[in-house]
Amino acid sequence: MVEFKAERVLTRFGELSNKGKNRKLFVKQLIANLKAQLSAYPEVKYKNHFDRIMVELNGAPEDKVIDLMRHVFGIRSISPVVLCDADMDTITQVCLHLMQKEEACTFKVMTNRKDKHLPYSSDALNRSVATAILLNTEHKVDVHKPELKIKIDVDMEKAAISTRVVEGAGGFPIGVGGKALLLLSGGIDSPVAAYHIMRRGVEVECIHFAAPPYTTIQALDKVKQLAEILTAYQAKLKLHIVPFTDIQMEIYKQAGPDYGVILMRRSMMRIAEVIAENNKCLALVTGENLGQVASQTLQSMHAIEADVDMLMLRPLLSLEKNEIIDQAKKIGTYETSILPYEDCCTIFKVSNPVTKPKLKIVRLEEAKCDLQDKEEIALANIETFVFPSIEENYL
Ligand code: ATP
Ligand code: MG
Repeated sequence: MVEFKAERVLTRFGELSNKGKNRKLFVKQLIANLKAQLSAYPEVKYKNHFDRIMVELNGAPEDKVIDLMRHVFGIRSISPVVLCDADMDTITQVCLHLMQKEEACTFKVMTNRKDKHLPYSSDALNRSVATAILLNTEHKVDVHKPELKIKIDVDMEKAAISTRVVEGAGGFPIGVGGKALLLLSGGIDSPVAAYHIMRRGVEVECIHFAAPPYTTIQALDKVKQLAEILTAYQAKLKLHIVPFTDIQMEIYKQAGPDYGVILMRRSMMRIAEVIAENNKCLALVTGENLGQVASQTLQSMHAIEADVDMLMLRPLLSLEKNEIIDQAKKIGTYETSILPYEDCCTIFKVSNPVTKPKLKIVRLEEAKCDLQDKEEIALANIETFVFPSIEENYL
């Protein structure tokens, strides 16, 4: 039997279709993001078609292209489209062939004639296709609630046929909402927080605080791997690594141990704020979650952000841990996040951290530490990586 391959992929927009005059910008950004994510296939071309983008494969492999497109935000659904001659016999053969690859299901044929001079009616084509499928497969017709719709757009020259609808990632194209700086630890939560923010159209840069030699090279590699995984959603991702050891040592030497975690977080925020400003990021993002650990009570969060001017976002604030784990599995970060390497927070863990810190006491404890110089030194020694890692060399 002849193999019919999809030549185009029809891309339907998500929430983006409602965006009035910003639409043009949204579509432009979405096409740029698709190009970046599909850069391995320069033969692929993109055409804006009203509320859709038609992606022309020009020989690029359909499955690989669709798999990459599934992770690009701003797309509601994707359908491979097979093109063939417009005569009824050919269309019927192509539809039959496509349906022979599907598991038995109910279907409906929907023809849209773009040219009223065609020598057959929509109804005649629907019947021809449905009859061939009924006679040669296990599929059944259901015109009211079909499991699969065979959509045929036909003019005098060509028919465009699609049977599959692949769910897209939804959300807005990354970049239309500006940029934010995410505090990326090696844990389960912060990569999921990155996904949520990216999905709202905000580009993410990451910052990680490492405390060598207390934290290992493996712990750092794990964070880099997480950044690499996130490039499935954002084609290019920056990661800033801050040497944090001296700051942590100073906090644990000078301040009361119960306040260590809060003071450490405040220092992270001060440093992150500078990096964010230098890199045109408009907000700081964390994977914090209300009630999860001592540093994530309302009082602790207030103490952590009280002296930060920048907008702080906590997209996972109200989720249950098992919901976050499910999402981490879905986006592909879970297996890496649970690798057992110590993060800088776990190294200096105290048995009884304060859960309801008073800001006044926090500031007094902080004043015992000599942090300003150390934070400046840390800022001067940040290392920046760009992912996918092949681009590391270009920095
Ligand atoms: P995660 O699973 O994201 O590590 P968590 O539940 O372990 O979160 P904490 O360790 O209290 O919670 O960290 C809270 C948030 O602070 C993290 O989600 C992350 O955004 C930020 N954070 C913690 N440690 C670091 C670090 N070493 N580098 C960068 N950000 C960090
Ligand atoms: Mg953590």
